[in-house]
Amino acid sequence: METKSSSSSNSVTIIHNAMIVTMDPESRVFKNGGIVIEQDKIKAIGQSSDILSQFSSVAHHLQIIDLHSHILLPGFINTHVHTSQQLARGIADDVDLMTWLHHRIWPYESNMTEDDSYLSTLLCGIELIHSGVTCFAEAGGQYVSGMARAVEKLGLRACLTESIMDTGEGLPTSWAMRTTDDCIQSQMELYEKHHNTADGRIRVWFGIRQIMNSTDRLLLETRNTAQELKTGIHMHVAEIPYENQFVKGNRKVEHGTVTHLEKINFLQNNLLSAHTVWVDDTEIGFLSRAGVKVSHCPAAAMRMLGFAPIREMLDSGICVSLGTDGAPSNNRMSIVDEMYLASLINKGREVYAKGTTDPTALPAETILRMGTINGAKTVLWDNEIGSLEIGKKADITVVHPNSWSMVPVHDCISSLVYSMRTENVVSVMCNGKWIMKDKKIVNVDEGEVLLAAKEASSKILKRAGISIPNRMNVL
Ligand SMILES: [Zn+2]
Repeated sequence: METKSSSSSNSVTIIHNAMIVTMDPESRVFKNGGIVIEQDKIKAIGQSSDILSQFSSVAHHLQIIDLHSHILLPGFINTHVHTSQQLARGIADDVDLMTWLHHRIWPYESNMTEDDSYLSTLLCGIELIHSGVTCFAEAGGQYVSGMARAVEKLGLRACLTESIMDTGEGLPTSWAMRTTDDCIQSQMELYEKHHNTADGRIRVWFGIRQIMNSTDRLLLETRNTAQELKTGIHMHVAEIPYENQFVKGNRKVEHGTVTHLEKINFLQNNLLSAHTVWVDDTEIGFLSRAGVKVSHCPAAAMRMLGFAPIREMLDSGICVSLGTDGAPSNNRMSIVDEMYLASLINKGREVYAKGTTDPTALPAETILRMGTINGAKTVLWDNEIGSLEIGKKADITVVHPNSWSMVPVHDCISSLVYSMRTENVVSVMCNGKWIMKDKKIVNVDEGEVLLAAKEASSKILKRAGISIPNRMNVL
């Protein structure tokens, strides 16, 4: 990164000479673009020459950065991630779903401390930043205060959610005690304490872990309280066929979770519906009419859930974005990998609908939208993030394509989806500040976090009594 600075203060930054993929409503791409950042916002964007002639002499505290042969994008938005599960990477590979949940993940999560949550979020955040993410939606963890501390330090933007359950079989004792009132009260307190903190980078959402762990009273009070506070709700929806069977039996509806949520009038435009794999056409209609947003997590779906009808959802006008899910469901927390997988899996899935695969399904520009502006709409923040436009927050990802993995670039938009690797992301800015520069995380010591994470992870497994069996002939 070549930088010229006229002052130690960075109140205005001009980046020029870069290809800029704006993801704005006109899908503008500037081959040789420039962008002006003042404090935390984008002040101007356009052709490099126009930007330089207009701004390079007028600003006082000016930093000019020449990013020739780089590509600039809006920061990616990961709309479903369990930051608290990062220290559990690799504890539940190749096991069935019930072993995954009851014998690995619940014991792990219920044995975490707030400091573990802080460390886990730091580790997860480092990986998110390396993959060009500037904003994420937490799927629900035990200690929002620990997560908030890490997000504030890393410089990221996030919608944080507590893990919420008020009923269910086989829950760890400490979780089984929670009443519906406790669940709502605790989230209102977290909202009071953390919403709109860290220079406005942190928002607090309401959580519903999943329908098998929620009473209808919890669902409805969550809906009402989130509406009053004008915030969102993050819920796992229609993950496995058993979930729909459970709902059919317990709630006496014809299909499954989405049908029940429609019936009790829970579906609203502030609902972030994660996974949403086992839905039929009628239910896709319910989601679309209510303006529900869907987070598609392709890697996690392939590991445990199944093929989600993403093309059908997009065709019906549903806003679909991308998530990684947690480390024990995916292992890789890279939205770059998820873009690649989302495109391939949904092309291949067409074989079930049409009897042949369809290479034109979910093209690269659709996938890029899912990773950026659709992500912003999903987290209810598209008035400020998701595209590079005047007046929006300066959340920017810088890609360096001149490596063995991306050269040659003939079609920039498709190369970003099909060729780009996480390692091609070199710098990341959030809220007008660099949080990774030339692959170095700016606000924490990455090496120290890795060391502490290894130690804390072993201690949690020991406390939780989880042991991972050997594979192959370990000597
Ligand atoms: Zn999840």
